[in-house]
Formats: sequence, C-alpha cells, structure tokens
Amino acid sequence: MGGGNPRGGVDYPRTFQEFRDWFPDDDACLDYLEGLRWPEGFVCPGCDARLGWRISQRRMWMCSACGRKTSVTAGTIFHRSHTSISTWFAAAWFVTSTKNGVSALALQQQLGFGSYETAWAWLHKLRRAMVRPDRDLLSGLVELDETFVGGVSVGKQGASTDKVPVQIAVERITAHQLGRVRFAIATRPGTAQLVEFGCSTIAPGSTIRTDGSRTLRRLADRGYTHEYRTGYNSPDKSQELPGVHLVASLLKRWLAGTLHYRASDKHLAYYLDEYAFRFNRRHSTARGMLFFRLLQQAVATDPHPLAELTADS
Ligand SMILES: [Zn+2]
Repeated sequence: MGGGNPRGGVDYPRTFQEFRDWFPDDDACLDYLEGLRWPEGFVCPGCDARLGWRISQRRMWMCSACGRKTSVTAGTIFHRSHTSISTWFAAAWFVTSTKNGVSALALQQQLGFGSYETAWAWLHKLRRAMVRPDRDLLSGLVELDETFVGGVSVGKQGASTDKVPVQIAVERITAHQLGRVRFAIATRPGTAQLVEFGCSTIAPGSTIRTDGSRTLRRLADRGYTHEYRTGYNSPDKSQELPGVHLVASLLKRWLAGTLHYRASDKHLAYYLDEYAFRFNRRHSTARGMLFFRLLQQAVATDPHPLAELTADS
C-alpha cells in the first residue's frame, strides 16, 4: 500500500502479513466492507436512494429519502452475528488461502470456536456466499453431461449406494484448456432436466457437445448448435466428452478429501458451489483475490440463520 487505507472493492491483501496489517480491528474490517458493498457511496437497501448520512455510532447510516437506518452488515451473512467482524475476516482468509478448502474441524481449531457446530455453520454461510459469483452464462464450446458422485456407505443393513446425480457444464477453450464450470444436482437424471440446466447456464448461440442421447437433441431447437457423435451410449465418455470427464474426476477427488462424512443431497449443493468457485478461479495467482471475491459476494448475500442451515440436516 502506498499510503492511505486499503479500499474495499479495489485492493486486496496479497500475503498473510498484509492481511494482518490491513485488518487490525473491527473498524478496519467495516471500512473495507463499506467499500465493497457501496463502491460508489451509500445506497439505501430500502428504497435505493443514494443519499444518506452517518448517525450516532459511526456504523449506522440514515437514508435521507425514507429515513431508514441501516448498517453495512445488515442483510448480509454477517447480519446479527454475535462474533466480531474481524473473526469473520479471519475465517474468510483461512478458507480462501487454503488451496483445497478447509473442514469445519480445521476452522474450529484455527479460530478457537467453542463448538464444532458453530464452525460448521460458518463454513456453510461462507459457501453460500460463493454461489453468487457465477451467474454469467457459459459460452463458446461447452460440454454438457451428468455424472454420479458419492459412493457406497456400509451400514448395519449392508452396503447401500448414496450416489447423487450431478449435472456438469464446462467450457472448452482449446483441446487441452478448460474454461468455467457450472454444477447442479439432478433430481430427475436422464431426463430433459439436463436440457433445462444447459439452457439456464449456457448462452444461446453457443455450441453444446453431449453424448447425443435423444432428449438432449432438443438443444438444437433452443438456439444452440448441438454436437454429438452418432451412435449414442458410447461406452467411453472420457473420449467423447473429455472436459466433463476431467472435471467430474477432479470434483470427486476434492469431495473425497473435503468430506469427512457422507454428504447429504442438501449439503452437496453447497460443496458444488465451493468447488465451482475454486475451479473458476484456479488461475488466480493471488489467493487474496479469492478472499476479496468471497467478501464481495458475502455483503451481497442474505443472512441465513443457523436454524435454517441445520434444519433437516
Ligand atoms: Zn431509503
């Protein structure tokens, strides 16, 4: 830094030393969050007015149009958190600076949380913040397919399969270079649901390569160039769709290393979000860039109380 405070929305820390220097206390963190949330100045979350002033405590804003009072963390994943914002920053740094992600247990130990459940809820809140980034549509040449992740768990009743069908779309830049990826859990595998997934994640006019199964041929009627080899149900998908095949195996390896327990369908969606977040930024040279993106998305994310996260889990 060449003097002045780090600006949220512009600067990001490049090293742990820099991280510590920039964010010594809650005030420094909140200043940074204001820059991220309101890069062009305060915007009222109630009426979108751009005029307001700080009141009483430094951290509250009053809208001059509707009179609503708000804080920089209101409506974000940090809303009504009982833990200090600097601890959240430490968690976000830890999660993004660790190459393959962290487990709830590691987060608990690193930050000294009293309970595993708290660490687990924090991790999932941060994962939710990872969902946002990738709403731009894929384009160019895109491979589209379904795969099954998960494995066989052995219980008292013997072995039972708990594989979950996952939809994958991945851009192929060149024969040996992949672009961005999108995932979704399939509730009706082997159906036209994969067509809908493709239409919601891939820009019209793109070329979509699939295994050519009959339902997927509808893609040609939806504004795409649909490519497939004749004679579907080819036994070797890895040759036909090498990008999807590679992403699927990387995903499975990552899940196996990250999950210390069986992922239920519900939580698998968050793991897919985290993996897509990491995969799509795998060429970022600075880990601090991931930290920056995560916080940027975090201040644009609705709060999710612990009760909601753990319901049905
Ligand atoms: Zn207002």
